[in-house]
Amino acid sequence: MSAIKLDGKALAKQIEQDLSTRVQAIIDKTGRTPILATILVGDDPASATYVRMKGNACRRVGMESIKVEMPSATTTDELLAKIEELNNNPDVHGILLQHPVPSQIDERACFDAIALEKDVDGVTCLGFGRMSMDEPAYGSCTPQGIMHLLNHYDIELAGKDAVVVGRSAILGKPMAQMLLNANCTVTICHSKTQNLAVHVGRADIVVGAVGVAELIKKEWIKQGAVVVDAGFHPTDDGGVGDIELAGIEEIASAYTPVPGGVGPMTINTLIRQTVEAAEKAAG
Ligand code: NAP
Repeated sequence: MSAIKLDGKALAKQIEQDLSTRVQAIIDKTGRTPILATILVGDDPASATYVRMKGNACRRVGMESIKVEMPSATTTDELLAKIEELNNNPDVHGILLQHPVPSQIDERACFDAIALEKDVDGVTCLGFGRMSMDEPAYGSCTPQGIMHLLNHYDIELAGKDAVVVGRSAILGKPMAQMLLNANCTVTICHSKTQNLAVHVGRADIVVGAVGVAELIKKEWIKQGAVVVDAGFHPTDDGGVGDIELAGIEEIASAYTPVPGGVGPMTINTLIRQTVEAAEKAAG
C-alpha cells in the first residue's frame, strides 16, 4: 500500500500565500495592518522561541505582532489587567497568551479573560463550548490545523472510528470534539486507559497527542488507518513523534510526518484565525 503523506509544511506554505493577499486587502480597505498581540510571562526559552516563531509567521504574511513581555513574578491581577487593555485596544485583532504561565498565575482565569472575538488561539472555555456546539468560534490551533490538513487531503471522516490518545484542554479534548462534529465515532484515551493497544487497534483514524516519545506502537495500528501525530521530540536525527512512524507507510493509508506534518499547521492556523478576526473587524 502506498500511503499519502499529509504534508503540513507544504500546505502551510500554500495557505500563507493566500493569507498575504487577504492581509493586503484588509490594509487597502482600512488603512490599518492586522495585529496579533503575543503575551510572554517569564523567561522560559522554549516559550520565547514559540513566541518568536509566531511573530515571524505574522510578518511573512504582512501582519504585525505586538510582543508583550512580563516578568516571572507577574500576578494574576497584573496579567488580567494587561489582557483587558488588549481586549479594549481596537488596533489588536488577536491575543495569544503563551502557555504555560508561571505557577502563581491562574492560567484558566487569564485564558478566559480574552475576548471571544480576539481568542484566535482558541483557548477560552466559551470558545471551546461554542466550537463543541458547532457554533462559530476559533478552534484551538493544533486540532484545528489537523482538521484543515485532513480536509485538504479529502480524508473521509464521517462514520469512521477515531481514537484520540490524550485529553488536554488545548489538544486532545478539542480534537475529539472536532472529529465528533465531523461525524466520527470518537474514543478518547488517557493515562488511566486500560488496553491502549486494543483501542488504537480499532481506529480508522488515530491521533497521538500524549507527549511521550513513540508511546503508540506501529504494530498496534490497523492496516489502512489514517495516522496523525501531534508530538515532537527532538533527536540527533531530527525528531520523533508520539507514534512509532518508521515504516508506517506499509500500514497506514495516510500519515503526518514528524517533523513537517502537524507542527507547521499549528502556527499557520493561529495566523489564519487572526486574519479572519481582522476581516470581521474590518466589516
Ligand atoms: P499534555 O497536556 O501533557 O497532555 C498529555 C495527555 O496524554 C494527557 O491527557 C495524558 O493523560 C495523556 N497521556 C500521558 N501519558 C499517557 C499514556 N501512557 N497513555 C495514554 N495517555 C497518556 O500534552 P499536550 O499539550 O496535549 O501535548 C501532547 C503532545 O502534542 C506533545 O507531544 C506536545 O509536544 C504536542 N503538541 C504539539 C503542538 C504542535 O504545535 N505541533 C502543540 C501542542 C502540543 P491524563 O489526562 O490522564 O494525564
